[in-house]
Amino acid sequence: MTQLAPGVWRIATSRGDRDNAYLIEEEDGYTLVDVGWQRAPAAIMATLAQLGRQPTDIKRIALTHAHPDHVRGLAELGRRSGAQVLVHHADAPWLEAGRVPAAGRSGRLGRAIDTVPLLHWTPMRPDMLLGDHDTVASLRVIPTPGHSPGHIAFLHEPTHALLVGDAVFNRTGLAMGPDALAADPAGRNASLGQLAGHATVVGFAHGTPLQGSQVDAFNQFCQRLAGTP
Ligand SMILES: [Zn+2]
Ligand SMILES: [Zn+2]
Repeated sequence: MTQLAPGVWRIATSRGDRDNAYLIEEEDGYTLVDVGWQRAPAAIMATLAQLGRQPTDIKRIALTHAHPDHVRGLAELGRRSGAQVLVHHADAPWLEAGRVPAAGRSGRLGRAIDTVPLLHWTPMRPDMLLGDHDTVASLRVIPTPGHSPGHIAFLHEPTHALLVGDAVFNRTGLAMGPDALAADPAGRNASLGQLAGHATVVGFAHGTPLQGSQVDAFNQFCQRLAGTP
């Protein structure tokens, strides 16, 4: 684990910085943002042990969206932690279905990969539905629809650490995912204007965090794609 900001920890749930979950300190325990693939719960529980805490200290799991690389580990972690599961209302039907529906990808490639059982998950009924600009403990919901209909980012209000989920990737520089895998590529790009100008530090679900002057490049990237200079 590495500290992204005071009270915000990044947990790499697979090799390198490829897939990240975020653990946020709250008054009542922790909020976890996203889980990861099937093996992510082991990495998350190892981090809690390092902090001297238990899985049951996770009080809520807030999802940026319902894609397999974020929720395949959810059923196990939900069982071990007893945490509430929160997702935007527009992605809730996907979470409950246990897979991305055909209408959830704009391209044929995306629709084809969702037929692969490895990309299905244990159907989950969320405990709470999130709406645009809701507050979840110390986090504020920023709507960024398009990657999926209910994709959201989270702004940590005490520090202005911004957790962008899959709205933007930073694996090999700032980039958008393939259009074929997004529900609505044009809407996705337009929604990036919501992310510009808030952050002191940016945490990605996929890739390396940005801080300091690198955040300016992130803001410019979002404004350019949103067409709002
Ligand atoms: Zn995704
Ligand atoms: Zn992802």
